[in-house]
Amino acid sequence: MTTDPQPHPAIDTSKAHPARVYDWLLGGKDNYPIDEAVGEKLPPEARDAARQNRRFMHRAAAWLADRGVDQFLDIGTGIPTEPNLHQVVQGIVPTAKVVYADNDPIVLRHAEALLVSGDEGVTDYIEADVRDPLEIVAHARRILDFERPIALSLIALLHFVPDEQDAHGIVRDLVATLPAGSYLVLSHAASDLFPELAEQVTAEYARGGIKLGFRTRPEVNRFFDGLDLVAPGLVTATEWDTGTLGADSEPSGIYAGVARVS
Ligand code: SAH
Repeated sequence: MTTDPQPHPAIDTSKAHPARVYDWLLGGKDNYPIDEAVGEKLPPEARDAARQNRRFMHRAAAWLADRGVDQFLDIGTGIPTEPNLHQVVQGIVPTAKVVYADNDPIVLRHAEALLVSGDEGVTDYIEADVRDPLEIVAHARRILDFERPIALSLIALLHFVPDEQDAHGIVRDLVATLPAGSYLVLSHAASDLFPELAEQVTAEYARGGIKLGFRTRPEVNRFFDGLDLVAPGLVTATEWDTGTLGADSEPSGIYAGVARVS
């Protein structure tokens, strides 16, 4: 994929954006000098964290598809990076339906790559903000059957939503729309695993105009209130493994978990 030299008018290249900094961290090309400037100031561990987080997404999505989950609602999707979630799950369940949502216009700009579903499945994209969760659900209902299990993924998203904006309430509202047998898949940067690095990363993003709020383990755990965490529970992105897929061995500053709605 190449970056259009003439950015779309909705794309603000005067300020760094989370999706574009993350794309830079993953080695992608869909970012601008302003994003690269933030990325370059971050410690190398930030690139490791992005890669580890993405691999957690792949493992969790494959695990869910292996269990027959065939409906996915992925909020905070990011700029397409192969394999995308639908490619992972449709590789296992070709009929899987995936609804993507993100609030950054650059993701919409590249959404064609998210919308190339396998022939038997469906993918859809909505430009929307997780802080308006019911708008996303109303849209997703047009594609997904909310009477059957759905995997809701909020991966590396909620550290962009502070407590003042009721991050926990948003997750509660989203989960309340899901039937029994559904899943919540969540990852979140930790403030308490490598505190000095976490502070450095938060400060560099803030200097670039992006507000990040990393959370402690109990704060992240609270997103799973009322749900049944599946083994291995709330662990780090590299530790999240269900025994068959093979976890990575390196240390990680990202919490990750998958929980079942009962
Ligand atoms: N889930 C992907 C991308 C993570 S980067 C992955 O883990 O690989 C975080 C993404 O969240 C970015 O694409 C950013 O645009 C999006 N985001 C941040 N705040 C958001 C909000 N309030 N509503 C919707 N998306 C948001």
